[in-house]
Amino acid sequence: MAPPSGVALLISVTLVLLLVIPWVNGDAVGGWNVSNQREFDYFKLTLLWPGTACRRTRHCCPSNACCQGSNSPEQFTIHGLWPDYNDGTWPACCTRANFEEKEISTLVGALRKYWPSYSCGSASTCHGGKGSFWAHEWEKHGTCSSPVVGDEYNYFLTTLNVYFKYNVTRVLFDAGYVPSNTEKYPLGGVITAIQNAFHTTPEIACSNGAVDEIRLCLYKDFRPRECALQSTPRHGMNSRSSCPKYVSLPAYTPRGDGKVEMSVSSTYQSESM
Ligand code: AMP
Repeated sequence: MAPPSGVALLISVTLVLLLVIPWVNGDAVGGWNVSNQREFDYFKLTLLWPGTACRRTRHCCPSNACCQGSNSPEQFTIHGLWPDYNDGTWPACCTRANFEEKEISTLVGALRKYWPSYSCGSASTCHGGKGSFWAHEWEKHGTCSSPVVGDEYNYFLTTLNVYFKYNVTRVLFDAGYVPSNTEKYPLGGVITAIQNAFHTTPEIACSNGAVDEIRLCLYKDFRPRECALQSTPRHGMNSRSSCPKYVSLPAYTPRGDGKVEMSVSSTYQSESM
């Protein structure tokens, strides 16, 4: 067979690059490219513990749930419903569907209570813009959940329903793991309580020894499952856990000086992006 001509070689290389590049982008952990990313393998419901999140608050403003006095959250709240791949990476920013708050106007009351922001700053959105915490979560993760959950309204509604179904706060409180600024609890005990309730091992992230996030992995039909291989539990503990053997579940302590300031804190962006 004759060797390929220069033009034929150039066409072949271009074709291979065109086919390969979108997959590489789509696989990037936390990639921010809008590309043809392959469909995800499972969901991760990510929950935030307000007592820990509020320790990061330096300034108060109306949008920061830490600053709402007696109305501040006393249960785990939603960070997001994240689509993930079995290899430990995840897709991000899958379509150009911008966040529209009017689409979820009927859910806003519930979202303020169960999916609040703990920051005064705005968050990055997928296309170089800035927006609310909800805009960030929809554009980054919700658009990649669309093959299962559909549009923006259904992403938020589905996430609320899944959150109510797997009531991690109730499970922990019933097991005696209640908010305290003095007690420390065995991480193994916290994990076991969730395993007993939901038959899956949670991922737990800590900040300075305090539970910061609890993540539950779910099949696409929202039944519990184990998380990706990289986070398979070792010795009953999560191998990627940032937690010590004994963890705290800090009680909420009012933030700021009681006055609602309008200063902008970039806590959310610097801590979570
Ligand atoms: P987010 O607030 O959704 O941007 O996520 C905050 C942090 O969580 C990121 O910096 C990542 O370390 C991690 N993260 C984001 N998405 C995922 C995901 N789908 N699976 C696992 N970890 C994630």
